[in-house]
Amino acid sequence: MEKNEATGAQPLLFPKPVFHNKIWGGRYLHDEYGYDIPDGDVGECWAISAHPNGDCTIEGGPYDGRTLSELWQDEHELFGDAKGDRFPLLIKILDARQNLSVQVHPDDAYAAEHENGSLGKRECWYVLDCKPGATIVVGQRAHDRAEFAKMVEEGRWDDLLYSVPIKRGDFFMIEPGTIHAIQAGTVVLETQQSSDVTYRVYDYDRVQADGTKRELHIPQTLDVVDFSLPLPKSGDVTAPEKDGVTVLGTCPNFEVERVRVAEGSPARVPQTHDFVCVSVVHGEGGKVTTPAGSWDLRLGSHFVAPAGSGDLDFEGDMELVVSWPEG
Ligand code: ZN
Repeated sequence: MEKNEATGAQPLLFPKPVFHNKIWGGRYLHDEYGYDIPDGDVGECWAISAHPNGDCTIEGGPYDGRTLSELWQDEHELFGDAKGDRFPLLIKILDARQNLSVQVHPDDAYAAEHENGSLGKRECWYVLDCKPGATIVVGQRAHDRAEFAKMVEEGRWDDLLYSVPIKRGDFFMIEPGTIHAIQAGTVVLETQQSSDVTYRVYDYDRVQADGTKRELHIPQTLDVVDFSLPLPKSGDVTAPEKDGVTVLGTCPNFEVERVRVAEGSPARVPQTHDFVCVSVVHGEGGKVTTPAGSWDLRLGSHFVAPAGSGDLDFEGDMELVVSWPEG
């Protein structure tokens, strides 16, 4: 759909997801979301990404065939006044059939210095599905670097790692410096800074198909673990729901909301931001209408509403996760 001549509104951008095979992945992304995924164990759907390790191509409309990173460089008006030298967010669905490694991410300052100018990685998870009794690692119990190093060396993982039970609909903000691990039987929608820097501290001594173990990064982990972070009691969402909208989390990099749309209960999401990312995470699907036109949505649809798209009017039966950049 071309930019609407009558209203001047920018059409929505539909990126084609990029999939990544992972030792801990599976087939859920095909079986439950209907994605056309590669053979083997697939762990990650990079649904909205301009990161070089998975730069999405736009499908349909005036920008068909161009990558999100190209649009950021060449058509920057689509992203309003958003600052920075790269598209700042990355939206993923993760399917953990096995435990993810125990890991931590650096902040912007450490990543810029030690990882070739990369962004740091603040991330958050919205739990889409999990098996009964599932848990998630969201912190650690050592008080300082020396104690942490000793517990790692002695392999005292049960003492070191802090985990909580999870259920569908839980939300966790994972600050840089937080030891974390998504555990087997869990599917999450992850909203994060556009970064692929992960320091692995423990991988359960797993061996890959080629007989090797994945690399660990103990020195970097010791550098970046933040011992001052509080341990969350649960992932309960306690914010009120108003007209179908619940604020899941805010942080210096992004805000994330859940929007519920039901038959007879449409929802409007104002587009007052530099851009807005939308993912259809549950339900049958429906339709989104803007001043530029109307698009069908189904479970697993993702799009970017650019600056100047106008407000988003949703109808149908679906639950959405919506986010935009801050700062
Ligand atoms: Zn992570």
